[in-house]
Amino acid sequence: MAYLQLNNIEKFFGEHRAIKGIDLDIQQGEFVVFVGPSGCGKSTLLRLIAGLEPIDGGKLSLDGRDITNVPSSKRDLAMVFQSYALYPHMTVFQNMSFALKLAGVDPAIIREKVDKAAAILDLGRYLERTPKELSGGQRQRVAIGRAIVRDPKVFLFDEPLSNLDAALRVQTRIEIAKLHRELGATTIYVTHDQVEAMTLADRVVVLRDGQIEQHGSPLELYDHPANRFVAQFIGTPSMNVVPADAAPQLLAQAGSAAQADGFVGIRPEHVHLGAAQPGSVPVTVDLVESLGVETLTYVRLPNNVQVVSRGAERSSLQPGQQTHLTFEPGFVHYFDRAGKTYAA
Ligand code: ATP
Repeated sequence: MAYLQLNNIEKFFGEHRAIKGIDLDIQQGEFVVFVGPSGCGKSTLLRLIAGLEPIDGGKLSLDGRDITNVPSSKRDLAMVFQSYALYPHMTVFQNMSFALKLAGVDPAIIREKVDKAAAILDLGRYLERTPKELSGGQRQRVAIGRAIVRDPKVFLFDEPLSNLDAALRVQTRIEIAKLHRELGATTIYVTHDQVEAMTLADRVVVLRDGQIEQHGSPLELYDHPANRFVAQFIGTPSMNVVPADAAPQLLAQAGSAAQADGFVGIRPEHVHLGAAQPGSVPVTVDLVESLGVETLTYVRLPNNVQVVSRGAERSSLQPGQQTHLTFEPGFVHYFDRAGKTYAA
């Protein structure tokens, strides 16, 4: 039996069915990331697990115990929010120890737990400061520390890095990964950031409109998306997906017989530009984005369909210039009319 089990979970906001019968098993120690477009229900699902919103249908169990209707404070979970929600007038030590103090834990044990968490999070020097004397990244680490000392059965993170600048976000992300390696705690993490999802997750759960589209390891989703939605949601820039009937030259190159009313997809890194060769398609350059480590080149096929190519080389192409497109036939994805993946 899974450690955390979601059975047919439902949530309504008035008439709006925000969560539509979700089933999900999470194993002990697993790091699961919920991703999906804005409004898909990822925060709501997390809040249902946390007990911050009542569940309208289905069953939630943790470690063999039905917690569907158990109040949040009795679920043995700890949640870290995007806004750190620290007590401004308390020191870091007081913030981190507050829940334990309320629970009547022995002061010597509190000291030990806080010191241990502070060491893991590199906060030892800041224990006597108040939140306003800390950087955003340090505050978020205090919020994480506050969760660690409680030794919860599951850590819940709701976009914890979204208030941090790019550099701090990377650093804190690395710390969260390290923390998970050290503590091995079961973790559910909500983000709209692809890189966070891909780098932190053992398993990514892609949500859309209150339902699970697909779940799997980051590379499973990247290499074998179940449908067009997941294919285009995972990966930046998105997979090129064009109607099959708009890509006859490409399909001839792949030597495949795609369903005429379906779609074909190819990731930007599998599209190459260069001199004309047998089977290549003439294209016009729309835009070149030089990112230093890689170059993204947006080109237009003769029928005006836009395709993006990604390569490690620097490019001398200019908008308006003609070039030729080839791609790696082994990496073509096929989607039927409804967007479902099929093997061609
Ligand atoms: P985002 O990435 O924008 O935070 P999300 O995937 O986390 O989006 P949720 O916040 O879970 O999405 O919202 C899911 C749906 O439920 C949305 O349509 C939202 O408008 C609706 N919703 C969420 N909370 C409430 C609420 N308290 N009252 C009414 N509707 C709500």
